[in-house]
Amino acid sequence: MTKKIEGGCLCGAVRYESDAEPLFAVNCHCRHCQMTSGSTHLPGIGLPAAAFSLTGDVTWYKITNDRGGTSMRSFCPTCGTPIMGQIEGEELVFLHAITLDDPSVFTPQMDIFESSAQHFDRFDEALPRFPGMPPMGE
Ligand SMILES: [Zn+2]
Ligand SMILES: [Zn+2]
Repeated sequence: MTKKIEGGCLCGAVRYESDAEPLFAVNCHCRHCQMTSGSTHLPGIGLPAAAFSLTGDVTWYKITNDRGGTSMRSFCPTCGTPIMGQIEGEELVFLHAITLDDPSVFTPQMDIFESSAQHFDRFDEALPRFPGMPPMGE
């Protein structure tokens, strides 16, 4: 992904942009991503929060994640489009790639949280899969 990152919600009330290079691009099959997306998995990209700017109001809610920390998810209060997630205390935005103006620039590197994947989901055999979070670079 080399293009500038731009996107927003379905109704247009929420817009975002970032000049940052994505830190990762994954298909996440965790239950939170399933529920958030209303589908089998959520294609998402990681961006440094400091290099991400949002215009318009989003509604945030908090949930306890599998590590016992607090995850926050946001959506447009008008049209309901889920926009992004953050983990409390981490300077990272997990942006929902489907909300990009041009989602075709999204190229997943891996599938994560396969352990909670649904049997009716389908995987790209060429991509590595991890049962949960992938091992982080040392
Ligand atoms: Zn909206
Ligand atoms: Zn997830």
